[in-house]
Amino acid sequence: MKNRVIYLDNNATTPTDPRVVEAMLPYFYEIPGNAASRNHPYGWQAEEAVDYAREQIAQLIQVDPKEIIFTSGATESDNLAIKGVFEMYSSKGNHIITTKVEHKAVLDSCKKVEKMGGEVTYLDVQNDGLIDLNELEAAITDKTILISIMWANNETGVIQPMKEIGDICKKHGILFMSDATQAVGKIAVNPREVGVHLMAFSAHKMYGPKGVGALFVNRKNPRVKVTAQMDGGGHERGMRSGTLNVPGIVGFGKAAELSSKEMATDAARLSKLRDKLEAAFVSHLEEVYINGNTEHRMPHVTNISFKHVEGEGLMMTFNQEIAVSSGSACTSASLEPSYVLVALGLGDDLAHSSLRFSLGRFTTDEDIDFAIKAVEEGVTHMRDLSPIWEMYKEGIDLSAVEWSEH
Ligand SMILES: *Cc1c(COP(=O)(O)O)cnc(C)c1O
Repeated sequence: MKNRVIYLDNNATTPTDPRVVEAMLPYFYEIPGNAASRNHPYGWQAEEAVDYAREQIAQLIQVDPKEIIFTSGATESDNLAIKGVFEMYSSKGNHIITTKVEHKAVLDSCKKVEKMGGEVTYLDVQNDGLIDLNELEAAITDKTILISIMWANNETGVIQPMKEIGDICKKHGILFMSDATQAVGKIAVNPREVGVHLMAFSAHKMYGPKGVGALFVNRKNPRVKVTAQMDGGGHERGMRSGTLNVPGIVGFGKAAELSSKEMATDAARLSKLRDKLEAAFVSHLEEVYINGNTEHRMPHVTNISFKHVEGEGLMMTFNQEIAVSSGSACTSASLEPSYVLVALGLGDDLAHSSLRFSLGRFTTDEDIDFAIKAVEEGVTHMRDLSPIWEMYKEGIDLSAVEWSEH
């Protein structure tokens, strides 16, 4: 009997590393200061701790600590970057370019910008999840002020050609923003090197605590400014008011330091486990499809469709034992296929039959062996019960079947 649910949903959130928790603990009780209190030792200690964390984070992404703005998470950072640039640069233009596969925090911020009088182009992606650079360049107008493209996709792990996009932005003198929440702390991310001017990321996707994130804002060539979305005490260089979450920021800093040291070894180990998982499914099961580009992809993620098996149902066959995500999103009234997988050109059936496995620092060999067995049994079981699978095995062309409605 296993007494622990195997956690393969690290793209939704990562467990907080116990070393991170340990670093945070003194800042709840022993050192209670507000980092903005300038007139007593508790305040100074809190400020020092925040400064140190800012350095740890800046070092991970190779930028100046002054370029790190603390927020409550990547959702807030995305909002601040997109709406903040739109308001700050309105005299230059009102057009933003993004993609159809962004996180909702970016898509919904862009929707808001449209309501505020902006224009947004949502680029398609190719079947492998990568954008077409020619299409990007063709979408640029003399009103374009911002291009916002995620570093790595949360559902597929596909990594966009950041340097090439950065070069296009540079050539046209347009600000480049990236939601790098899934990439920072797991692969080498250096915004300066690829020409990213604004970058959102979050502690809880890299073994830090939930509720704290950052926005990198380029300070030199060009000096980028964003209009604050929160009015108050003028913290964080006036870009984000609000008392700093000192314990959370300390944990974020520690998580960044650990990632700097360990991400390369973690990535090497996890990509082997991920490949083992994929290889097992592909060799033991029929009609298995890996979604998204497998070359330009995060090392710990795989998104797989098990054709003719409904993902949510498959999860129920092992729900008490393995935590993963399906390619279906629950809305109030129905189960919608993931818009990301639809943008890759998957039909509703393949999108609904997909599962995302996202491994993490605490995933073990045994976890993967267990998952392989459980998923294979689940798929086999569901196909055994499925009249559609039986028809497929009998060689009936399912696309030619006319389903009657009752
Ligand atoms: C998780 C995630 C977010 C949201 O981050 P929060 O810190 O939870 O607000 C934004 N973008 C991407 C790509 C994510 O994976």
